[in-house]
Amino acid sequence: MSLIVQKYGGTSVGTVERIEAVAEKVKTAHAEGDRMVVVVSAMSGETDRLLGLARKIRKQVDGRELDVLLSTGEQVTIALLAMALEARGVPARSYTGGQVRILTDEAYNKARILEIDGTNVRADLDAGRVVVVAGFQGVDGAGNITTLGRGGSDTTAVAMAAALDADECQIYTDVDGVYTTDPRIVHDARRLDRITYEEMLEMASLGAKVLQIRSVEFASKYKVSLRVLSSFEDGPGTLITSEENIMEAALISGVTLNRDEAKLTILGVPDRPGIASTILGPVAAANIEVDMIVQNVGADGSADFTFTVNRNDFEKAEGILKRIAGELKARAVEGDKKIAKISVVGVGMRSHAGIASRMFKALADENINIQMISTSEIKISVVVDEKYSELGVRTLHTEFGLAG
Ligand code: ASP
Ligand code: MG
Repeated sequence: MSLIVQKYGGTSVGTVERIEAVAEKVKTAHAEGDRMVVVVSAMSGETDRLLGLARKIRKQVDGRELDVLLSTGEQVTIALLAMALEARGVPARSYTGGQVRILTDEAYNKARILEIDGTNVRADLDAGRVVVVAGFQGVDGAGNITTLGRGGSDTTAVAMAAALDADECQIYTDVDGVYTTDPRIVHDARRLDRITYEEMLEMASLGAKVLQIRSVEFASKYKVSLRVLSSFEDGPGTLITSEENIMEAALISGVTLNRDEAKLTILGVPDRPGIASTILGPVAAANIEVDMIVQNVGADGSADFTFTVNRNDFEKAEGILKRIAGELKARAVEGDKKIAKISVVGVGMRSHAGIASRMFKALADENINIQMISTSEIKISVVVDEKYSELGVRTLHTEFGLAG
């Protein structure tokens, strides 16, 4: 008998009708003999609604009471789902995070799971009950309610699967799997049957928003097989697993697009030790995350230093840079928000040379100028003018034979 953890996201439990549809799916799997833990999100829009209420009282809300508030969304859906299961003759029991004893650290609003005591859950499973668990929440050592950060129900599901040594963790959502690229941009984008944790992590951090990144990290660490499937149509979905479970890795698994970044350049700084830290130190101190970094030294011995930040941090970073420019007597500071980052991701890259040059040639053939380049073991990213975003993605998708 296998133990399956299923997780249903906000849209899948967005109305009572949809909760009843979930109950039907769970009933079918349970009837086939699976031991089932079902993790649910709040109804779609509910967490935002609650956040909105809090913000009416205080613009900047955080801390303990926010978690007390936000955790209520999931308490509604666990109760309704357990009722819908009972109404179908399926014995079920709902659990809040605290009732499972999903023990977290004390970091309200972004807590991390430390330990799960699944004793009660196991007893219910042994008694043939479906266990319905509230996603996104836990308790700290003192019993305070904590939440795991937006999208945290995915992490709850993976953590439950790891703690109970489940056979699979199935994430039911509004898409039917992980795609080679965004199907809204490339119409013949293909659903991937399998993808490695590493590839999924790269794709998720690059903007493929299918799963909370932390849940994939968790799955990778505890070797939980993770499957992304549609709540609304049948299909095998995409299995996210270890590399050894994938017979032949594709050269490239996906192409991603990120339009959330902006570029800043400080021109004509002295080329001497300590310059990079003089420039980026204050940026880091302001809690601004830097992604790509490029430094060029010109013939005159002065250097140009370019980096990208999230667009939301652009103005703040620009202000810091202007101040530093004064101190360093730099020639100028330039900023550009109209950029896009396009990346190709694939574990196959490790064993094949020449992917980068193929990528650059394909873009050049379309007259797309590359402004910045960065690489990791399984990823190559370029920054291009925003107006070439879609053309660039389509070009690379075709170049690497990803179409369905
Ligand atoms: N309800 C929470 C959110 O909207 C957690 C989740 O859905 O995963 O972020
Ligand atoms: Mg979600």
